[in-house]
Amino acid sequence: MKADIRIDRVLFEEGADDYELASLILKRLNGVPVEKISQDTPRQRDDSSNMDKETLRLVPFKGEFFKPCPGTKNYICCGYQILNVGTNCPMDCSYCILQAYFNQPSLRIFVNLEQELVRIGRILDEHPESVFRLGTGEFTDSLALDHIAGWSKILPRFFEGRKNAVLEFKTKTDRVEGLLSSPYRDRIIVSWSLNSPDMASGEEHGAPSIRKRLQAAKRCMEEGYAVGFHFDPLILHPKWKDGYMRTIEMMDRYIDPQRIIWISMGCLRYIPALKPVIRRRHPGTHILDGEFIHGLDGKMRYFKPIRIEVYAFMREQIEKWRNNSGLYLCMESSEVWTESLGWSPKRSRGLSNYLDRRVREFFIN
Ligand code: SF4
Repeated sequence: MKADIRIDRVLFEEGADDYELASLILKRLNGVPVEKISQDTPRQRDDSSNMDKETLRLVPFKGEFFKPCPGTKNYICCGYQILNVGTNCPMDCSYCILQAYFNQPSLRIFVNLEQELVRIGRILDEHPESVFRLGTGEFTDSLALDHIAGWSKILPRFFEGRKNAVLEFKTKTDRVEGLLSSPYRDRIIVSWSLNSPDMASGEEHGAPSIRKRLQAAKRCMEEGYAVGFHFDPLILHPKWKDGYMRTIEMMDRYIDPQRIIWISMGCLRYIPALKPVIRRRHPGTHILDGEFIHGLDGKMRYFKPIRIEVYAFMREQIEKWRNNSGLYLCMESSEVWTESLGWSPKRSRGLSNYLDRRVREFFIN
């Protein structure tokens, strides 16, 4: 079963018809009503509780397609680059940061992606000595709209044979048909956000179960893709240790650990402005139970000893299964690294180098 997606109207921005991707998308959505609008029309239905996720807006995007992940100097950041292909997502996780961006409702696909890739290719070529780790899963899910946007047709072809770049498709879905039918697998990583089965079913609304995600990962792995996993956000909940153990046991059943390029971990964190939105949109949620403190980046986080306990537990369980899995922490301090994982890259450059080495080991130059 695929993530349940219903598009019931398309907003077609002025200028989108200059791009072939826009007409391909309209063909794929044959029969869905299309409305032409100007680029500055802020359109949202009266009832905004669903963030207008049934509306797809086709956008000739004028902003940055390619930019560093916004880290902070107070925590160790992985040096990831965001490839911005669209915004919003048809799933509805209670903790999703995108809910804070109410001025950008509806699902959005940037139809000038292929034209921008030419410019991005030039940037990559200017730095042959660097390793660029790019990902599309920052402002949308990488595969939830793939059957409409065709990202798996466009992007792997662009990355094939590039010596200094990899692209990570980060997803919670099992929508891997596009990738499986692609002849281009070089330089592509497919990764899944994982949680405990209870958090997946209770807080990640509309997302496939953990088992389905891992079955999709198995298919990709068997077809030669490097795979990654992200335990992010790790959430405290009753019997959380048992819950995360169950997920790791399922990983053992479906995944060959030798094919894992990296596994990241990050405890739940959120900007204060998101809290009332979560309360309003997800009144039954348990993610705000418990105590939080203001982190150095202004986000609310669990207390440091709790984060250390969670990471240390996860590390122990994961390492019982696979000792060298590219385990790393997302946006944590050097102290938390050392206390929980037993080593620290010390600063963001150190973590970047560590992940770049993983890329070089997995993809032969
Ligand atoms: S899958 Fe990701 S982008 Fe989609 S709602 Fe969940 S957290 Fe947000």
